[in-house]
Amino acid sequence: MDLMLLLLLHVGDRALDAARGYEKAIAAVPGWAVGPVIVADARAAAEAGAARVAVEPAEDVVALPPPAVAAVIAVDVEQRQQQASRAQSPLEYELLYVRAALTMQQAHNNTFRTFSRQNLLSTDQRGFKTVIQEEADTFLTRSQIRLNATVATVRTSTKGVVVILADGTQITADYALCTFSLGVLQHDDVRFTPALPAWKQEAIHSMAMGTYTKIFLRFPEKFWFNTEMALYADHERGRYPVWQSLDHESFFPGCGILFVTVTGEFSRRIESMTDAAVQAEILAVLQAMFPDVAIPDPVDFYFQRWYNDPLFRGSYSNWPANFLSEHQVNLRANVNERLWFAGEATSKKHFGYLHGAYAEGRDIALVLAECIQGGGCVGLEHIDRVRNALPYDVA
Ligand SMILES: Cc1cc2nc3c(=O)[nH]c(=O)nc-3n(C[C@H](O)[C@H](O)[C@H](O)COP(=O)(O)OP(=O)(O)OC[C@H]3O[C@@H](n4cnc5c(N)ncnc54)[C@H](O)[C@@H]3O)c2cc1C
Repeated sequence: MDLMLLLLLHVGDRALDAARGYEKAIAAVPGWAVGPVIVADARAAAEAGAARVAVEPAEDVVALPPPAVAAVIAVDVEQRQQQASRAQSPLEYELLYVRAALTMQQAHNNTFRTFSRQNLLSTDQRGFKTVIQEEADTFLTRSQIRLNATVATVRTSTKGVVVILADGTQITADYALCTFSLGVLQHDDVRFTPALPAWKQEAIHSMAMGTYTKIFLRFPEKFWFNTEMALYADHERGRYPVWQSLDHESFFPGCGILFVTVTGEFSRRIESMTDAAVQAEILAVLQAMFPDVAIPDPVDFYFQRWYNDPLFRGSYSNWPANFLSEHQVNLRANVNERLWFAGEATSKKHFGYLHGAYAEGRDIALVLAECIQGGGCVGLEHIDRVRNALPYDVA
């Protein structure tokens, strides 16, 4: 039996409530037991002058009792949100966690169960896109791809689909497979005619699109921590809390690059600011973290505004507290025989992840291919009226 140490490094009075929630969540997982719950108050730590809190990675904390500790599953709700890469506010996350403990626990861990238990950062300079491009090269020709073309309207009928691009170009097809992000669908960036049916629109708006922002700074030389990661606890929740160094022997020693991750509302806040204003805030935080260092100006500064980009409208999907399995079924289902949907958000097992998007694209395309080869089909089932009667179930 695995024994877990649950470490909550939590700002404010909600720490114990949250701890109880986590305890319940873990107890609901067959074969798991709850170890001691340790609650440290990050605000108190910050007030005591400890601007740098828990600089060492979680592995070092495992040295705490009891002896049979298997893993630390949470260090601060905020950090847990970051570590788990769920771009939700701590409150949203806790609501979901406590409400659907087992469901979330399973969904959350599927990636780690299916692949590796470790979070790994790939430093392959070719980028992840190479995997997709190499695979596409085995069957797709350049003439079949239209780059820099923005879809404005998707018109469907029982006979087929007409896609109208922003420049007015019309493309006709027998079938269409949409992989716009959930955020794009939620913002009505693409017009569907006729309008998507109520069950599809409900599904689109029942899920959440999170925003997860990495802000990169390159300095003339390294002046920060020697670990891969560091946490910063500010009085304001979400203010530049998770730091990663690429100037590390495991990555690119000597590169001078440091990056910080923010999520959710804080991401949206900084997206509305100028680069210079965001940079100034970050330098002030670095000064608080390293009071004895004269922080130099970065030579490079970059971050992507995912939420305001009409081609993305966020970073990846998430399940909010009101999530129901039927919504996921309906998000994935085709609308009549002609219009199909895929992407990370339609994946029950790996929503939010790149491998979820990959597998969904492949799986839906296979169903669609069968449909075409069979001369037509009904397609995937959808639920007309969502009643919360479908159990969460992943193979
Ligand atoms: C900062 C960040 C960090 C992440 N970290 C990880 C990670 O560590 N591990 C992981 O597995 N995943 C991670 N992800 C998530 C991962 O990138 C997504 O889950 C994945 O890219 C989703 O793929 P998709 O094909 O479903 O959607 P998208 O990647 O959004 O692809 C949809 C495509 O549709 C295009 N499009 C949208 N609207 C239109 C339009 N109107 N006309 C024409 N084209 C349009 C877009 O340009 C885009 O190319 C991260 C994401 C972000 C932003």
